Amino acid sequence: MEKLVNLCKRRGFVFPGSDIYGGLGSTFDYGPLGIELKRNVREAWWSEVVRRRFDVLGLDSAILMHPRTWAASGHLENFTDPLVDCRSCKQRFRSSDLSTQNCPACGGQLTEPRQFNLMFKTFIGPVEDSASTVYLRPETAQGIFVNFANIVDTQRVKLPFGVAQTGKSFRNEITPGNFIFRTREFEQMEMEFFVRPDETEEQRWFDYWVEERLNWFVKFGIRRENLRLRPHDLEELSHYSRGTTDIEYRYPFGWGELEGIARRGSYDLDRHSEMSGRDLSYYDEESKSRFRPWVVEPALGLDRAMLAFMLDAFDEDIVEGEERVVLRLDPRLAPIKAGVFPLLRKSGQPEKAWQVAEMLRKSFMVSYDQAGSIGRRYRRQDEAGTPFGVTIDHQTMEDDTVTLRDRDSTTQVRVAVADLADELTRRIGWST
Ligand code: ATP
Repeated sequence: MEKLVNLCKRRGFVFPGSDIYGGLGSTFDYGPLGIELKRNVREAWWSEVVRRRFDVLGLDSAILMHPRTWAASGHLENFTDPLVDCRSCKQRFRSSDLSTQNCPACGGQLTEPRQFNLMFKTFIGPVEDSASTVYLRPETAQGIFVNFANIVDTQRVKLPFGVAQTGKSFRNEITPGNFIFRTREFEQMEMEFFVRPDETEEQRWFDYWVEERLNWFVKFGIRRENLRLRPHDLEELSHYSRGTTDIEYRYPFGWGELEGIARRGSYDLDRHSEMSGRDLSYYDEESKSRFRPWVVEPALGLDRAMLAFMLDAFDEDIVEGEERVVLRLDPRLAPIKAGVFPLLRKSGQPEKAWQVAEMLRKSFMVSYDQAGSIGRRYRRQDEAGTPFGVTIDHQTMEDDTVTLRDRDSTTQVRVAVADLADELTRRIGWST
């Protein structure tokens, strides 16, 4: 993990947040390479979960929601962690994290556990009182439930159908850590899939989405042996859940949650109907009846997904007798698709290379680099996860071909400049 964290900082994937002020409680900023990777992971999710399907629609709801939302959803009451304080050093811990009766920092005596709500509070408007208190959303899902009637009334949807959104969520985690695995501000990618209120139907779609989501990680490069499914025990179920299975990843610090797939039943629609007085039911043409659908929810953290993709791609090997660090990211996720290099800084090669880079930039994120030996330039791109290297050499000036180098095999082939964009498109398998 240490090596990946260093690489992320060195190459501009992820910086510690507010670094010049000494950082701020597990916040992180995404740099030029990180933001490209993040966009590509989000795009990989959106295209598979929303755009390529007829039965899932997108939404982008506000982060600030009416405070009654959180009373209805149960988050005001239940979204808590039991906390204990050390009487001596005053440090605070999540009691579920502790294996001893005493403070793990100083050995001091601990208080009885108290419930601590994980939602961030703020005020809307100029008056700072309880009537103007609002919360930063701790999950994006509620934006979907409160828009249920809007979707049904405007989109001519038929069950089963899903509504998806991506966006920031906030949780005042007591023990953030492990880099971007657990932070207080993070991005989620969630989808609420509405089905008929029927156990067979619910089970079928639950199994379908567990399988679908597991395959998505494998499709975009995570090794199957580093993933596993873990059904929750009854006592660890969230307050809204009728059953949850986590997709876990083998992080360097052990197996941990990557994505959760939950059966939320009609809990949320029931509660919002009750609290708002609005009818959040669905009229079923087939059975000529009204009911509130049940929900199957795959919920993934974008930052956590990025971490897993980077960890799985991180490798060190030896190329031409030299050690290299390489991020074997799927070309579709890689921030930069190709590095373009003139072999020499003379004989018209830099100008030609710049032309090639400009041509490719119309379709792909490419970088141009003429500094240092060609070996070092390849290494720099290997470490950034760039899947292809395009080198302009003396032969290019004669026959308008370039060498195309593959990051993983390091093999090189000659390709005509005229065919280069098509060849890269083919190899990437998808242009972003
Ligand atoms: P955990 O048990 O790790 O706290 P959770 O079960 O509370 O997670 P969910 O509420 O199911 O998480 O959220 C769905 C997904 O959102 C998680 O699988 C994870 O990928 C992501 N996520 C949740 N909390 C955080 C966080 N603090 N930082 C980064 N990602 C998070």
